[in-house]
Amino acid sequence: MDNVWQNAQRQLANVAKELELSDDMLAYLSEPEAVHIYTVPVPMDDGTTKVLTGIRAQHSLARGPAKGGLRFHPSVSVDEVKALSMWMTWKCAVVDIPYGGGKGGLVVDYKALSPHEQERATRAFARRLLPHIGPDFDIPAPDVCTGAREMAWIYHEYSNYVGHPEPAVITGKPIELGGSQGRADATGRGVALVVQRYFEMHDETLERKRVVVQGFGNVGQWAARVLSKMGAIIVGVSDSRGGIYASEGINVEAAIEYKESEGKLIGFTGEEIPNDELLELECDILVPAALEGAISKDNAKRIKAGVIAEGANGPTTPDADAILEKKGVVVLPDILANAGGVTVSYFEWVQNRQRMYWNLHDVHQRLRDMMRDATDDVGKVATEQELSWRRAAYMLAVKRVADAIKMTHPDLDGHG
Ligand code: NAD
Repeated sequence: MDNVWQNAQRQLANVAKELELSDDMLAYLSEPEAVHIYTVPVPMDDGTTKVLTGIRAQHSLARGPAKGGLRFHPSVSVDEVKALSMWMTWKCAVVDIPYGGGKGGLVVDYKALSPHEQERATRAFARRLLPHIGPDFDIPAPDVCTGAREMAWIYHEYSNYVGHPEPAVITGKPIELGGSQGRADATGRGVALVVQRYFEMHDETLERKRVVVQGFGNVGQWAARVLSKMGAIIVGVSDSRGGIYASEGINVEAAIEYKESEGKLIGFTGEEIPNDELLELECDILVPAALEGAISKDNAKRIKAGVIAEGANGPTTPDADAILEKKGVVVLPDILANAGGVTVSYFEWVQNRQRMYWNLHDVHQRLRDMMRDATDDVGKVATEQELSWRRAAYMLAVKRVADAIKMTHPDLDGHG
């Protein structure tokens, strides 16, 4: 597969050309404002010390503090972190929240560490990060292999560092430490809201629309749950062990319970189906909510869904995108479709700063408004300029960021 960072840069260059951005503006947007690489010494249970590598990239602070998750995984690399930080810039701009993009990672097989080693690793990484994060500068969040527990440790380290409790330094915290209502379901709910709005724009409802969801974790489960509440029928779901299919519809709540108790979906009511076939099922809406690159040039031509809503980050490769566009499949892109998570992270930060907390109803209402507005904004660009939804989302996002930069660097305006 191509280098993820080169892909991200190429994607930007294509959009910059269409927006007629100057070469200097393109150069400015093509690299993160800062990339920090840290050695992170972690005392292990056996008395030895392991030196891990930690990374934090701040792609842009043009529209506000950098925002983005911390990923603890052996595959983390500087290039991956840089690409993800750039995509966060575009994602925050699409939903029009006052943030730039950031991302971080710790290169470690985190699941192989003992609970005490995990805590020491997280706190050691947090201590390295302290001078470079803050509620007005860079606000991390959970990502692969990190969650509320890790956010609590980082919050604690930061609060000790500044000498007072500072919940707004990080989002995705436990409710007890200033986390927001509605964060757990935000991304999946956002996917459903974008899909619902897309159909409304075409004078249709989700009533009895057939949906297939790949990946049955946080995003996939919530997307399936909310879409089925909106009237859609979930006909296929899968996890890493395999999928199930039921043409008359799957009972989502029962499937979630089964997955929780058995650790897999296979065995639940319905026909067993291999993962690759699940993506190619006859359906109206396909929600890839597992991994990057699930839809590639190898399977894109066999996709039968009319609409793909990208719950995962980067589930469709650029080659697949071109094939899908030719086939007339509409792809609601990740930077729009899965932006519900960062939107509720933003709500968490706002509540922390106000020291005033909203109830679940308020969070859902605000999320709904913001996802619908963002869908309308992207849809308008797509229609007016006859672009794919992905291209439209990028055009909108990059323009918003470039316009902000031009306010302080008018010299960067002009034509390349
Ligand atoms: P998760 O770990 O909770 O769930 C991932 C699911 O995918 C699991 O059920 C796993 O079994 C399944 N899976 C893995 N490989 C698979 C395969 N080959 N076929 C089918 N299923 C497979 O993760 P998550 O938080 O739900 O995130 C899923 C995706 O959404 C990731 O790309 C993530 O970056 C993206 N995302 C998540 C959030 C969030 O708030 N959680 C926000 C934005 C984007």
